[in-house]
Amino acid sequence: MLKKNRLFTPGPTPLLPVAQMAMASYGAHHRTAEFRALFTRVLADVKEFIGTANDVLVLTSSGTGFMEAAVSNLTSPGDKVLVLSAGKFAERWISLVKAFGCAVETVTAPYGETFSLEEVGRKLTPEIRCVYVQATESSTGARHDIESIAKLVHALPDTLLIVDAITGLGTTHLDVDAWGIDIIIGGSQKALMIPPGLAYGAISERAWQRMETTESPRYYFDLRKERKAAAKAETASTPATALFAGLAAALDYVRQLGDGSLPAGRDALIANAELCAAMTRAGVEALRLKLFAPSSPAAALTAVTAPAEADSNIICKRFREQFGAVVANGNAEMKGQLFRIAHIGYYDYLDTIGVLAALEHVIAETTDGKVEFGSAVRAAQDVYAKVRN
Ligand SMILES: *Cc1c(COP(=O)(O)O)cnc(C)c1O
Repeated sequence: MLKKNRLFTPGPTPLLPVAQMAMASYGAHHRTAEFRALFTRVLADVKEFIGTANDVLVLTSSGTGFMEAAVSNLTSPGDKVLVLSAGKFAERWISLVKAFGCAVETVTAPYGETFSLEEVGRKLTPEIRCVYVQATESSTGARHDIESIAKLVHALPDTLLIVDAITGLGTTHLDVDAWGIDIIIGGSQKALMIPPGLAYGAISERAWQRMETTESPRYYFDLRKERKAAAKAETASTPATALFAGLAAALDYVRQLGDGSLPAGRDALIANAELCAAMTRAGVEALRLKLFAPSSPAAALTAVTAPAEADSNIICKRFREQFGAVVANGNAEMKGQLFRIAHIGYYDYLDTIGVLAALEHVIAETTDGKVEFGSAVRAAQDVYAKVRN
């Protein structure tokens, strides 16, 4: 059969065709009225998409660039910070805060699980300057309870909360201002359906104030410099102009999903991811496979433990070679142990049913035909039918 190349990876995600068209034709110089108009519109739309009254910035970098900015701008060497760590992306926070000389405390949970709030509460002392966490840990498929964590953090007068929501935004309800998230971070190649290259985020007034006193070195990722430039509808250096054009088109698409309301469109995108995830979990369990993060699964992606008969290297290879589907392997030491199917952004019913039908074949081949064809698809159909009715 023909194979269409399809990404089921938790970033990059499938591209929105109308955004691809917008990018292909965009050639304006960045110091022009034309780009300033685009830039202004994108910042206003990103603000609505995030759902915040805080200042928003869009940086030309991958998501990690904004993560670095959230460390270099908010800390001084020697500052005590807390990282909540249960996966590879949390470990990135640990490496980052160490690179900037912070004294790091951690609350850890095993891969696939989320944190004990009691332990978070115990580790939160007034000397902690910043708390760093993921909304959804893309390496394990777990969702963390940001609302409850935020309540604990804001019991302290002067501790900032920084949330890597790179796969959380657009897949998970996050009430940024009501919960008091001081910096929230997203990336273009996730729910916003365009290629990698832009990171976006919202920054609270408390975080801006902190930046006035911190002493870590920063240059490209100096957020104060970007804020000043943004006030004039500019960026400090050359932005990825074509990606801005793509982002504008993607945000228009989200607005259409909400019949003219961007927040409603964002909520529709979240509901879509939640439904794709619920269908996928039901399908996976119908095949008697184990979810890797069963107690707190994210809508961003579903991580599945590889069955005893086959490691996930083989599973990912079969998906790719037989069906053209790029499913993500486990990261680093989780490679071989699990595979990950994403629901972030531009996925629909047929994508979800299709990947589950393919999964039936992939698992049938690795378990000597013990799979009843249609079982995963049927379970997903039942979930879909319930939501529809
Ligand atoms: C993708 C991702 C990142 C990294 O973003 P880059 O754009 O690759 O730098 C960080 N955190 C999470 C949770 C992610 O899913």
